Amino acid sequence: MAEKLNPWLNALKQLDKAAKAINLDPGYHQILAHPKRVLEVELPVRMDDGSIKVFVGWRVQHNDARGPCKGGIRYHPNTDVDEVKALAMWMTWKTAVVDLPYGGAKGGVRVDPTKLSKAELERLTRRYAYEIAPIIGVDIDIPAPDVYTNPQTMAWIMDTYSMIKGYPEPGVITGKPLELGGSEGREEATARGLQYVTEEAIRVMKIDPKKSKAAIQGYGNAGYFSAKFMHELGMKVVAVSDTKGAIYNPDGLDPDKVLEHKQKTGSVAGFPGSTLLDKDPVKANEKLLELDVDVLIPAAVENVITDKNADNIKARLIVEAANGPTTPEADDILHERGVTIVPDILSNAGGVTVSYYEWIQARTREWWDIETVRKKLRARMAKSFNDVYNMHKELKVDMRTAALALAVKRVVRAMELRGIWP
Ligand code: NAD
Repeated sequence: MAEKLNPWLNALKQLDKAAKAINLDPGYHQILAHPKRVLEVELPVRMDDGSIKVFVGWRVQHNDARGPCKGGIRYHPNTDVDEVKALAMWMTWKTAVVDLPYGGAKGGVRVDPTKLSKAELERLTRRYAYEIAPIIGVDIDIPAPDVYTNPQTMAWIMDTYSMIKGYPEPGVITGKPLELGGSEGREEATARGLQYVTEEAIRVMKIDPKKSKAAIQGYGNAGYFSAKFMHELGMKVVAVSDTKGAIYNPDGLDPDKVLEHKQKTGSVAGFPGSTLLDKDPVKANEKLLELDVDVLIPAAVENVITDKNADNIKARLIVEAANGPTTPEADDILHERGVTIVPDILSNAGGVTVSYYEWIQARTREWWDIETVRKKLRARMAKSFNDVYNMHKELKVDMRTAALALAVKRVVRAMELRGIWP
């Protein structure tokens, strides 16, 4: 289902579109079309059987005009430098859209972490942390989890960095376990933020959640919590999916019961009272996207909404939990058809926003309760939605271009004020 497209080319196309919308100076356009810094590192690891295996990793810092770089670390067998560059650029836009005092970065290691033992993963992570240590830091670049990395990975990185420095430095990384200075609300943060922007979107679109149906692709952290929060808003969550299948119930699914089923059986498929959208999981996931629903939330992988299926999408509102689920060609088709997309850099920015709260808490050594986190997150997400919505009205462009235009404007303003060094 997910098409193999070069994400870096997509990111550049999106930048071109935003640049056109705001008449961007070609000089600044050129600066933004290149990452500030790309570090490739070799990672030799002693495996449990005594052999040596060499992995490759990257840390890309796209832009730091507005503050230290921020972005996750991905472990994936298919990751490459172009993917990491695109994700770093999207982080620059994401932090700017929600107005965090950060730039954008991303890290990646080409590895299938499911094939490594815990001890091998720890050695790989510590070696990677050591190799990128010269360019990260609490005021330089603050990594976080992404695909196949988790609070344990962050704890190893925090420890390795602290060993190099000679003192504990919890602010160098976010997404840490609570016991090491993680933030309350980090686990639900991405979907909480998505909930708050969805509330704003359905308000301006005059969609009544109690009369609405939602379909959600992917049932991991972003997908499950999104399903739970849409259900809490009163929507009927009629379909959800994972790699093993997509399930449907026109009367609505109970997200917590589906999670319980997935935890027991390894998949949402087979959940009592639901039907499979197709026996073939790939086809089932394709069908989920085309269901007759009001709200569609892609929460799995990139490039699933393309020029091949954009015409068949029936949802009026797409809220992107995944990064890059819609190709630029599909964006044009959907915009023309009047479908509203709340773009990833806005709708999934709850995760990085709570990371920012974690960073503040780590620096002040003062910890907030979950209500404080949620209250601050709601206010920031609602304001960011309205900033983007106003830009969309002002420039008469789709919401993604508006979000990018707003972000690019903020980054360029910071660069103008700072000037080009020397
Ligand atoms: P996760 O690993 O917890 O869950 C991913 C889910 O997607 C799983 O249920 C998996 O079975 C399913 N999936 C994977 N490939 C699929 C496919 N081809 N078809 C259908 N389902 C598939 O990951 P996550 O943290 O929920 O992240 C999901 C997306 O959200 C990613 O694009 C990620 O970059 C983005 N995102 C996540 C966060 C976060 O804080 N978790 C923040 C910002 C963006």
